[in-house]
Amino acid sequence: MDRKRSALFVLFNSKGLEMRTPAGIECNYFYGDYYRGRSHEECRLLKENSKNWKPSLCKTCPVPSIMRANSCEFMSMTAIISRSAITLFQPRVQVTSFCQKSQLTVSEPHIGCGECHPNLPKIEVKK
Ligand code: SF4
Repeated sequence: MDRKRSALFVLFNSKGLEMRTPAGIECNYFYGDYYRGRSHEECRLLKENSKNWKPSLCKTCPVPSIMRANSCEFMSMTAIISRSAITLFQPRVQVTSFCQKSQLTVSEPHIGCGECHPNLPKIEVKK
């Protein structure tokens, strides 16, 4: 990565904008520091729960697609690295979500808990 681009990445990330993961997907929780020859990458969602993050986990991680599908400000996510028989014991990021507004565990984070859905403004189509 050239110097100008890496400086821009650091600047964008300090303002809370998304960075691209090593898998090429934009993710709010990915942080890469490439400034002046540095090559530090981390997942800030998993950082709190596990220090075993590696770039290959981003390929199968559900978090970027959840954030694209659901922008609810009340939903928080917790992630762990799991090895289940379904994935042939390969490490995968597993996400659990919680809604701060309804105080419910969100079973389908791509959709949300459904608490706010009835309150959406109605769209009127002019005839
Ligand atoms: S593991 Fe998931 S949450 Fe973490 S940086 Fe990669 S895509 Fe984002």
